[in-house]
Amino acid sequence: MIEKAVEQLLKDIPEYVTVVAAAKTRTVAEVEAAFRAGIRHFGHNYVQEAQAMISQVNFKANWHMIGHLQRNKVNAALHLFNLIETVDSIRLVKEIEKRAAQQEKTIPVLIEINSGREENKSGVLPEQVDELVQAVSAFEHLHLEGLMTMGPRFGDPEESRPYFIETRRIFERLENLNLPNVQMRYLSMGMSNSYRVAIDEGANVIRVGTLIFGSRD
Ligand SMILES: *Cc1c(COP(=O)(O)O)cnc(C)c1O
Repeated sequence: MIEKAVEQLLKDIPEYVTVVAAAKTRTVAEVEAAFRAGIRHFGHNYVQEAQAMISQVNFKANWHMIGHLQRNKVNAALHLFNLIETVDSIRLVKEIEKRAAQQEKTIPVLIEINSGREENKSGVLPEQVDELVQAVSAFEHLHLEGLMTMGPRFGDPEESRPYFIETRRIFERLENLNLPNVQMRYLSMGMSNSYRVAIDEGANVIRVGTLIFGSRD
């Protein structure tokens, strides 16, 4: 099942697109099956669950933090993840800088955009992104490599398009600023139901759970 789903998905998308398999609620056996089928990037939403999973799987891969990152979990997160996709506040940036400096590493990060402007959702509002980019750019131990957005959840993926377009425009604008410590490489948008629209609108990273592993409930 998982192997077939991965095979189909990889056939369906351009080669330059990175698939991040969203591993929340999945078992070690399931993510191992996805790895065997060719997935090399996995996303996790929770630091503790990621820690348990990463210590048990029989492969080495790239792990992305795709859930909201609490400041008291930053130190652990830096030991686990190759990329943090969900940077969304200056306080979080400062904590990552401090801990990464202590660990003597530089961590690639994406800024999460709350493109749907939904209350109580993580991510920065589009009008607040520049301030956050300036903060990241000023720090040595974070390297800004792009943007991530969830967008509102819709049944019809077409409804996501305006949110992906807005995020891509922000991406292109930041790319043209040529800031230090900033290299806009990754635009992470689109999930199981919306990845085609996201790729249409410039995504080169998609985060897919249900389509690979089946529904969560
Ligand atoms: C769960 C999750 C996904 C994948 O969602 P599916 O609809 O299962 O593909 C993508 N991004 C984030 C941040 C997630 O938490």
